[in-house]
Amino acid sequence: MRKYTAEICEEDFGKEIELYGWVHEIRDLGGLVFLVLRDREGFAQITLPKKVVDRELFKKARKLRRESVIKVFGQVKEEKKAPNGFEIIPREIEILNVSDAPLPLEVTEKVPAELDTRLDNRFMDLRKPKIQAIFRVRHAVVQALREFFDRHGFIEVQTPKIVSTATEGGTELFPISYFEREAFLNQSPQLYKQTLMAAGFEKVLEIGPIFRAEEHNTVRHLNEAISVDIEVSFVDHEGVMRYLEEAVREVYEKVNERCERYLGWIGVDLEVPDTPFERLSYDDAVEIARKKGEDVNWGEDLSTSALKLIAEDYGGYYFIVDWPTESKPFYAMPYESDPEISKTFDLMKGWIEIASGAQRIHKYDLLVKRMRDQGLSPENFGFYLETFRYGMPPHAGWGMGLDRLMMAILGLQNIREAVLFPRDRHRLVP
Ligand code: ATP
Ligand code: MG
Repeated sequence: MRKYTAEICEEDFGKEIELYGWVHEIRDLGGLVFLVLRDREGFAQITLPKKVVDRELFKKARKLRRESVIKVFGQVKEEKKAPNGFEIIPREIEILNVSDAPLPLEVTEKVPAELDTRLDNRFMDLRKPKIQAIFRVRHAVVQALREFFDRHGFIEVQTPKIVSTATEGGTELFPISYFEREAFLNQSPQLYKQTLMAAGFEKVLEIGPIFRAEEHNTVRHLNEAISVDIEVSFVDHEGVMRYLEEAVREVYEKVNERCERYLGWIGVDLEVPDTPFERLSYDDAVEIARKKGEDVNWGEDLSTSALKLIAEDYGGYYFIVDWPTESKPFYAMPYESDPEISKTFDLMKGWIEIASGAQRIHKYDLLVKRMRDQGLSPENFGFYLETFRYGMPPHAGWGMGLDRLMMAILGLQNIREAVLFPRDRHRLVP
């Protein structure tokens, strides 16, 4: 019977099973050869005592090259000294594919490698259990998010990634040639998810790529990232903040439930964050940074150095709310009582921004005015603006970087660790 290494249990003792995997290690002690077989769920020790196993088989095992792909058929034997409490005495080892040597990267991690070298040889890097575990957790995170929003009545959608207008009029766009015209890769699904509010969907979820031509190379920016976006009608910014914090908390709970083994490989102990998350006003955040000697101009986005000072007091998840209207995109709703500030929020984990959201402007005239204030031409937003003329409901939403959330959950120091094949200023391959 075919098994994963992690499925082998006491009931299998004495029985014959079939394993598929890679040769992780070989130890040749002369009269005894130990192989460590690695599959996606773990390891198994394959033991070949010269006196017990077939002679040809013993010779073959000795000559195996590390990282070759093999199929092992053999008997499970209890062995207290083996790492899992059992070993396999093989009757047959089939070599499915031989690996070349030397290896471009060590899977055993006996030799540490630079991140760049690891990413250049990502398929080998991903063979390391603690690296592959990141993506097992990522799978659970996405699944938990889908379950959460499905349960709350959200409709998952996919909007176009080839677009004709900039979402926010910024310069961070990748132009592409679209037959005889110029088009862009979408930097956010913002305009489309708002359009779906006009279409009467009420609650939408999208998990998809965003593209940003950020020139700078940082530990938290990529040129292609995955964004988890929601948009909800008939609620304000507070309403969507509650979805956000509850979703994050549930993600932690489900990852703890479903990824115990993988968290162990990574060496992470997940503590479920308490909700509601603390709300810190932009004004108070500025005050904290100023008191610590940082020069902050009211009205501007908070710099990395200011955020690092604030994070000395706020290590976990918290919201920074009520941002200056001028620091946020044109579609953010200003407070009626004080239009200088807006119904906006960023979800932070320490100094890293995880998500940004707002109640949106749903009134046509105000929206056009805000576009002009920000130096944008309403003519460029034709299809979007039209939707505000024929019954656009009040609505709010947010966008959360999935890769940033992974950094936060697993304590990863570089966003590239959370992405299979990251795209940055210098990396287009693999
Ligand atoms: P930052 O200030 O950190 O550059 P932003 O405010 O420009 O982010 P938003 O436009 O608010 O980003 O996008 C929503 C979310 O998408 C961010 O909170 C972040 O989690 C994620 N995100 C944005 N840009 C990137 C990027 N270049 N790489 C990875 N994730 C990103
Ligand atoms: Mg933001």
